[in-house]
Amino acid sequence: MQPDELAKRIQELALVCRKAGRPLTVQRRAVLEALLTLDNHPTADEVLELVRQRIPNISRTTVYRVLDTLVALGVIRRIHHPGSAARFDGKVARHHHLICTSCGKVWDVDAPELDCITPPGEATRDFEVHDFSVHFSGLCSECRKRP
Ligand SMILES: [Zn+2]
Ligand SMILES: [Zn+2]
Repeated sequence: MQPDELAKRIQELALVCRKAGRPLTVQRRAVLEALLTLDNHPTADEVLELVRQRIPNISRTTVYRVLDTLVALGVIRRIHHPGSAARFDGKVARHHHLICTSCGKVWDVDAPELDCITPPGEATRDFEVHDFSVHFSGLCSECRKRP
């Protein structure tokens, strides 16, 4: 992520925190920065590792809690796909994923034609759909190379 885009996201976090009456703590800022810097759907532990380069004594619990708070504030998303650890996504706009079932890595799929899926009314059984995401599972090019 570009530095100016990162700065914009931090400003956005400040605004969201102010609106929610929650302080923009050093930890919240550092966790969001780490997540956006990694930019590859990291797990909580991957975020923790990077945050510790800046705040060496931050606890695992704190990082996990901050990630939950950021999800609740709508600044980031938690993505879980069956069979893999929860990962976090700095991109909150609707998009889709490729998931490798061997290494667990996740990639974004930008395909506007997927955004237009609307299930027929009878299929949703009165369920009010707020959002959806398509995920394709399979093997990434690295894992396919392995015997
Ligand atoms: Zn893979
Ligand atoms: Zn994503």
